[in-house]
Amino acid sequence: MTSAAPHRKAKALKPESPRPAKALCSECGLCDTYYVHYVKSACAFLNQQIAELEEESHGRSRDLENEDDLYFGVHQTMMAARKKDPIPGAQWTGIVSSLACEMLERGLVEGVVCVQNTPEDRFQPQVVVARTREEILAARVNKPTLSPNLSVLEEVEKSGLRRLLVIGVGCQIQALRAVERRLGLEKLYVLGTPCVDNVSRAGLQKFLETTSRSPETVVHYEFMQDFRVHFKHEDGSEELVPFFGLKTNQLKDVFAPSCMSCFDYVNSLADLVVGYMGAPFGWQWIVTRNDRGREMLALIQDQLEVQPVGSQGDRKQAVQQSIPAYDRGVTLPMWAARLMGLVIEKIGPKGLEYARFSIDSHFTRNYLYTRRHYPEKLEAQVPEFAKKIVSQYQLPPS
Ligand code: FAD
Ligand code: SF4
Repeated sequence: MTSAAPHRKAKALKPESPRPAKALCSECGLCDTYYVHYVKSACAFLNQQIAELEEESHGRSRDLENEDDLYFGVHQTMMAARKKDPIPGAQWTGIVSSLACEMLERGLVEGVVCVQNTPEDRFQPQVVVARTREEILAARVNKPTLSPNLSVLEEVEKSGLRRLLVIGVGCQIQALRAVERRLGLEKLYVLGTPCVDNVSRAGLQKFLETTSRSPETVVHYEFMQDFRVHFKHEDGSEELVPFFGLKTNQLKDVFAPSCMSCFDYVNSLADLVVGYMGAPFGWQWIVTRNDRGREMLALIQDQLEVQPVGSQGDRKQAVQQSIPAYDRGVTLPMWAARLMGLVIEKIGPKGLEYARFSIDSHFTRNYLYTRRHYPEKLEAQVPEFAKKIVSQYQLPPS
């Protein structure tokens, strides 16, 4: 085994040492373990290799001529779902936590990599290998900050654990897939969520302070399909802020550089993805990518109410018009922002078309960001599917 595991001689980087991806590091946690040995080939920001890893994980890469594949990645099924009996305090209805509990309790896995918070700060991630239902449930709800999910991989290998579920976002899962064969596991299941516009803990504070009426009482927020940010406060009250009223001029630099140059919004390499963006308001969006993903979803089928995904509206004009605004960081007055939000909600993209709207807006913005700040990386960092999506729009000249 020693020769197959050269990483065991490597040493994790110290917390204060610079990361190989420098400013583009998303703090995925790989470098906090001896798997740093593989960082040059595994890091999502040093070696973008989504197509190759799709092939390994799902048996094929995306068919770029098929629009659903192009946008949502390799998949077997897509649906909208919600728990009949939602988990209180979960981000949405708690499909992710329910699935993790079920897999653990039925013995499919011995541990679950998930993200709790520190005792002092509800938004500061604390990554754990959960071994009980209580520990999984303590990780419910998003910690909307960069989180070092892979930092526990060394502990996993040393503990002799053989069957593992990892919950994570795209950049974490790309690095995980790249080292999967080195982990010494008998079985790895990957439950992904989409992810976009993530921030450091300091960036999150700035976002809350510039956007919410009461930053210190926010317990939960989400950018929703009705084009508003929904904040939930400690007292249970809800606060809605239209996207178009966000102080984009102040928030321009708040998103992490890694997230501004990421094109894996839909978590292409997970077995099963649970988000909300392709589903009607209030529902979750589920994508099974391979047989493992279908096996996982079947475990909680009886706990779910489901409906087919739908699509309505036409996003293209709205995306094209948003490109210069995004780029220049324009903010509308609040009354105009509310009006624009209402109009778009009434006539705008819904279901899968909303998901395409969000993907197009973020990919064009991120393409421009990467072109401006990392021109030497542009060709390799942007996957072919993203190049094709971006090519539908007119971009400002470089
Ligand atoms: P819950 O049962 O509440 O479980 C949430 C799970 O998320 C927990 O298991 C926890 O381990 C994990 N988690 C929490 N914080 C992090 C983190 N920082 N990194 C990795 N894992 C974490 N969906 C979309 O459709 N569009 C988006 O743009 C989008 N952005 C997201 C951004 C982030 C940073 C995260 C974490 C998720 C995002 N999602 C997005 C997914 C969505 O918000 C819900 O997490 C998902 O639908 C699951 O909801 P749930 O109620 O089933 O989760
Ligand atoms: Fe290391 Fe992950 Fe940062 Fe890349 S993103 S440098 S693998 S910690």
